[in-house]
Amino acid sequence: ALGRDWAESWLRATAATVAEHRSELVRLDREIGDGDHGENLDRGFTAVIAKLDSVAADATPADLLKLAATTLISTVGGAAGPLYGTAYLRGSTAIAGESTLDGAAVVAFLTAARDGIVARGKAEPGDKTMIDAWTPAVDAAVAANGEGRSEVEILAAAADAAEAGALATEPLVAHKGRASYLGERAIGHRDPGAESSALILRAAAETAA
Ligand code: ADP
Ligand code: MG
Ligand code: MG
Repeated sequence: ALGRDWAESWLRATAATVAEHRSELVRLDREIGDGDHGENLDRGFTAVIAKLDSVAADATPADLLKLAATTLISTVGGAAGPLYGTAYLRGSTAIAGESTLDGAAVVAFLTAARDGIVARGKAEPGDKTMIDAWTPAVDAAVAANGEGRSEVEILAAAADAAEAGALATEPLVAHKGRASYLGERAIGHRDPGAESSALILRAAAETAA
């Protein structure tokens, strides 16, 4: 089952993958934004990791993910800070009090996280944002849970769908965020926030497995 240790491992693995892909995220954001997405997230998740040691041993997954939310909101800035902060905050509220997460809880977390990003940023699927990774991920998670698959399989399905969704932003024109100023010049470039979302969800699946 996915408990406190999984939530902590997920956050540590996220910090590691964001650091590893930092320059790639910067490059993507330089092409259709202002080039800071990798730095923003690296700073934010480094700050999250620095706080993990002070978390109580009996903390729930929601406690850890809420800590991530407040830390990201206060350290990341830009568009992605409030968006990811809201995602972790709404997601943690959806699983509050649960010491371990079953498949339904994983779906509830992912759905609430995605809905939080939409509530905050008002993006729709196809707008070339992180929502283009999150929405297929949620759909895949719901489907996998409906087939009675395990929480590990649900997270793997979500990660696969998020990666495909991030790739599928390449031919799109952007309708939200800085890339929307570029019009057709955004075509051919992958959205950095969709890419980082896929990395985050892959980290969730790998640490669950
Ligand atoms: P900034 O654009 O302020 O420099 P970042 O570079 O950290 O912020 O993040 C950019 C990413 O934020 C984009 O690639 C996109 O995925 C996401 N984004 C921007 N605006 C929105 C929005 N309204 N809704 C959802 N995601 C958005
Ligand atoms: Mg940027
Ligand atoms: Mg910026």
